[in-house]
Amino acid sequence: MTSLPISIASVRKAYGSYVALDNVSLDIAAGEFLTLLGPSGSGKTTLLMALAGFVRLDGGSLTIGEQDVTRLAPNKREIGIVFQNYALFPHMSVLGNVEYPLMLRKTPRAEARERALAALARVKLDGFGDRNIAALSGGQRQRVALARAIVFEPRVMLMDEPLSALDKNLREHMQFEIRRLHDDLGVTTIYVTHDQREALTMSDRIAVMEAGRIRQMDAPQEIYRRPANRFVAEFMGEANLIVSELLLTATGGTLAGRGLAMIRAEGFDLSPEGIVGENVMIKGKIATKAFRGENWLLNLIADDGSAIMLSIPASRAAGCVGLAAGDIVTAYTPAADIHFLPKEAGA
Ligand code: ADP
Ligand code: MG
Repeated sequence: MTSLPISIASVRKAYGSYVALDNVSLDIAAGEFLTLLGPSGSGKTTLLMALAGFVRLDGGSLTIGEQDVTRLAPNKREIGIVFQNYALFPHMSVLGNVEYPLMLRKTPRAEARERALAALARVKLDGFGDRNIAALSGGQRQRVALARAIVFEPRVMLMDEPLSALDKNLREHMQFEIRRLHDDLGVTTIYVTHDQREALTMSDRIAVMEAGRIRQMDAPQEIYRRPANRFVAEFMGEANLIVSELLLTATGGTLAGRGLAMIRAEGFDLSPEGIVGENVMIKGKIATKAFRGENWLLNLIADDGSAIMLSIPASRAAGCVGLAAGDIVTAYTPAADIHFLPKEAGA
């Protein structure tokens, strides 16, 4: 399939006085897998539907490859779309559903049949062509929806929370399947989810959205390790945001004046030999301690009363097995791993 870049430039959409897309700009490289990640109501679906041509924008432009598609009819955009609720035709067979986009395009019958069968094979549904949609499981229906979206060789794929109706195990399996399909086809893909782990697992880059704006766009590891602001830090996993006055150096000083430090729960360690020059320490009283299988979760209360979450892997938990609520401990983390949040206006 062809891979084309997508350019979203200064896009705006308001519903009455409510601004759903607030001057959004994004450039997606040819063949990239980009995820729009954000809480419910942040504008993800609106942006996707604008690309598909179902939402009329108030301003800005959309370009696919060299073509300005801002005012192009949806059926002329040649975009494959997969929704959460499948949107399959229940009265048609599996094959009928997958052939449908080709019928719309007046593809000759024999060729349509051949291409639909090939698309079904790609999503591992060989031999399912004659089944009824009603007889399929949720995961199989989503595969049919995928086959229908790729069968006409779209220029771009858009997926809006395609896995959120599936249970956890199947969802995790399908994350890898969709990514593999993307890698096989090479088609530029924009994927929408509100699930941070799903976004981290699948994406080349993630655009984190909040209230109609992009708050950060970066590779998964960057987003996780170096969030650009407090919203992204807290949205992407267990982030401790600690005022630098509480962070102690091995020589007895503090990191005062550096602002808010973001340290992930799994960034800390606990053991007396950690109090050395390259580490930064924080003292706290254990409030709760819980064994969770692969890790121990400890909640500390720091000197200023703030709560700090520690996740210690079971494999290096020797120093924490004997600890109990009420104990005072010193947690440490390598100084070089600490990410200080940039100062925010109004913060
Ligand atoms: P997300 O997909 O991130 O959950 P949406 O793009 O669906 O968010 O919605 C963004 C905001 O725009 C929400 O506050 C939603 O209520 C509002 N919105 C979406 N579609 C409409 C509409 N057709 N009319 C009025 N408000 C809408
Ligand atoms: Mg949505």
